Formats: sequence, C-alpha cells, structure tokens
Amino acid sequence: MRELNKLSEEIAHILAAGEVVERPASCVKEVIENSIDAGASFIDIKLEKGGIKKIEVYDNGKGIHPEDIKYVFERHTTSKIKTVDDIFKIKTMGFRGEALCAISSVSKVTLISRHYQQDQGYMVKVEGGKVNSKTVYPFEKGTKIIIEDLFFNTPARLKFLKSPSVEQKYCAEVAEKIAICYPEISFRMQVDNKRQLFTPGDGKVESAVASVFGTDILKSLIDFHQEEPGLKVWGYFANPVLSKSTRSGYYFYVNRRFIRSKLLSSCIDEVFKNSILTGRFPIIFLFIEIDPSDIDVNVHPTKLEIKFKDERFVYNTVYKAISKVLQSEKIIPKPDLN
Ligand code: ADP
Ligand code: MG
Repeated sequence: MRELNKLSEEIAHILAAGEVVERPASCVKEVIENSIDAGASFIDIKLEKGGIKKIEVYDNGKGIHPEDIKYVFERHTTSKIKTVDDIFKIKTMGFRGEALCAISSVSKVTLISRHYQQDQGYMVKVEGGKVNSKTVYPFEKGTKIIIEDLFFNTPARLKFLKSPSVEQKYCAEVAEKIAICYPEISFRMQVDNKRQLFTPGDGKVESAVASVFGTDILKSLIDFHQEEPGLKVWGYFANPVLSKSTRSGYYFYVNRRFIRSKLLSSCIDEVFKNSILTGRFPIIFLFIEIDPSDIDVNVHPTKLEIKFKDERFVYNTVYKAISKVLQSEKIIPKPDLN
C-alpha cells in the first residue's frame, strides 16, 4: 500500500506557522512591524495574560483596502514586494506575506481597518486560518488587530509557553526594542490595563531610550558616529559604570531592524575590552545604515539575523566609530541634561 500523503492546506499552514509564531512576542513583533509599514505615527498595544489570551494592536496608519482585507490572511500575499529583484532592496519591515497567515492559523483573529481613501471601515474574523465574515464596521482611521487564544488549536505549542508574566516580559522587550529605533512613532503598551511603556514620538532616540530605561540613563549617554562610503554607523553607549553582567544591553539595529549578531557582539566586546571590567558588558544602542543591496535579510524567517556582504568592513567601521570616542573622551558622566 502506498504511504505518501499530501498534507492538507490547514496542516501545512500550522507547520509553517511554527517558523514565524513561537510565542505571543512573535505576534507582537509582526503586528507592530505591519503598523510601521503602514506609516503609523501612533501604535497602541494591549495585552491580556502575557498576550496568551489576547493581543490587541491599534495603529493610525493607512489602513487596508476593503478589497484586500479578506486576502491578507492568505500565504504569500503582500503589498510590499512584486519581483525577485525587490527582495534585494527591501525598505519595509515585512515582505514575506507570511505573518498574518501564520498568526491566524493558530489563533482567533479579528481585523478592523479603514483604508485612508475609504469612507467606512470593515471587520473580518478569522479562526484557525478560515475567514468567517466581512462586515462594515464604524472605524475612524487605521487598523486594529485582535489576536485571541493563541495556539488554541495546537495544544502541544501552548504547553511550550512560559508563565504569563514571562511571556509578557518577552512582549515588552520586543515593543521596547522597536520603539527605540522608531522614535518618531509614539508607542503605548498596556498590560492587563496597566501602562507598561509610553514613548512620546518626538523623533529623538534619547527620549525613547529614557522611556524604556528611565531618565537617569540620559546623563550617561555618550554618542558616536562614523561614515564611510555606503555605510553609516552611529549611536550611543552608556558610561561603562552602568555596565551589565550579560550582553542584554546590546541593542543592534541595521536599517532600522533590530538584529542579533555575533559579529557585532564580538566587535563591541573587543572595543570595550580595556574600558570595562572583565565579565561586564556595556549598554549600547548601535545603528547601522547600509545600502540594502549590501545585506541579505532573507536568511532567517523572523529576520532576526542578517548577513553582511562585507563583514570586515562593517566590523572595522563600528570599531573605529566607538574606539575614537573611548580614546578621546574621559569616561565620566556627562553633566545633567535636564
Ligand atoms: P508582510 O508584512 O510580509 O507583507 P503580513 O502577513 O504581515 O505580510 O501582512 C500581509 C499584508 O497585509 C501586508 O503586506 C499589508 O498589505 C497588509 N497589512 C497588514 N497589517 C496592516 C496594517 N496594520 N496596516 C495596513 N496594512 C496592513
Ligand atoms: Mg508583516
């Protein structure tokens, strides 16, 4: 007897969802990124039970066209790229057209949106990947997505989640990391009706950093800057007296995308080697602006890792930017900025 099965679309979607949606924080990341791509200046995030019960994100961006709203949950539907060439010059946070498909196949989603050229809003409800209905819905502007009962249909995944307070911490970390590199957007995050984060959206990285870490950190921020052809490196590090026992204070952004990078971590370790005690690590916000064709963001489904074409060049430029300041500046706290 033959043994081969063609998996149903439902199972295929659930399997694919595993790559993108690991926990509530992955949903928060994807949905916030969609709000940024929609040009929002205000993003409001609400969580219940660490996001396991409910994640609600509102943005005042351009909204979704009524003809598109039912189709955004299909796999590989995106408004962000059209051709293979586009993959190599990506300017948006999303482009794979997978997130909403993945999220909606493992949760219950309500999407409400009003396109900026339309005079009314619409609502669709999706459960386990199936769009149930589309109705007219009074809505002033932008998009609201409500994700409920994550992993309700995949109990094995649900079991892997940590406690609501730990999941909430992961969600907050995602929102904070994004808020720091989008200071022109005001982010608000509420957890079980209590305010967790509020950034003013005044365009200053320092203001967003202060919202996350408290205003005290501002006094100790030291800035750096280095420009080379096709590459700009800039940012802030906190005076090394505010060091940490782990690398959790390493915030790396490439073309406004938060990334993890062994290359950059080892560069920071190396450049601070003589300015910080052994076993301690600085708090640093490092922004890299690079020609999109000099990186590949398509090496990791959640885009947390990227590949630089010329790793040495990036390493050396970051090293130069920071070592210049470490050498010139006496590392003492700056005067009170307030
Ligand atoms: P991607 O972001 O990779 O395109 P997604 O599955 O995250 O894929 O979203 C699919 C599409 O739905 C997007 O390309 C966009 O057109 C639309 N969309 C999703 N969220 C929003 C939003 N908040 N505002 C406007 N459009 C949105
Ligand atoms: Mg997306």
